Amino acid sequence: MKIKVPTLEEFLSHDGLHYKNLWREVGDSWICPSCKRSKYEVMRWAKRFPNSSNAFWGWVAPLHRHHDHSAPYMSNQGRFPMTAICDQCNSSDGAAKRKLRLPKDFSFSPQEIGCFVNATPHGKHEIDYEMAKAIYDSLHI
Ligand SMILES: [Zn+2]
Repeated sequence: MKIKVPTLEEFLSHDGLHYKNLWREVGDSWICPSCKRSKYEVMRWAKRFPNSSNAFWGWVAPLHRHHDHSAPYMSNQGRFPMTAICDQCNSSDGAAKRKLRLPKDFSFSPQEIGCFVNATPHGKHEIDYEMAKAIYDSLHI
C-alpha cells in the first residue's frame, strides 16, 4: 500500500483536532522522543470516526502525554518523566503490554518504545514483540 504524504500546506493547516493544546504546546521542532519522527512525519491519512455513519478520511497526528502508570498521575515520578509521544508509539506501548501480558501499571519509557518499533513516516509502526519482551525482562521488575 502506498503511503499518502501530506503537502506542506496540509501540515501547516493542521489544527490538532482533539489534541489541539498539546499540538501547539510542543512547538514546531518537536520530534517524537520514541520513534524520532517529526511532527510532519507523524501525520497519517486515516479514517475518522470509522464506526459511525459520518466516517470520513482526514489527516491525524494525535500526540499523547505518556507517563509511567506505576506512578501517581501527573506526578513525574516513576521510571521516566511525563513526555509527549506520538499516537503510534503510544498504541505500540499498549499493544506490547497486552500481547506480552505485562502488568497493567507497567509502562515502557519513550526510549524503550523506540527500541521495539519500526517507524515509517506517515505510516503505522511495526512492533518487534520479541524485542519488547527482551527489554521488559532486562528491567527485572
Ligand atoms: Zn513516536
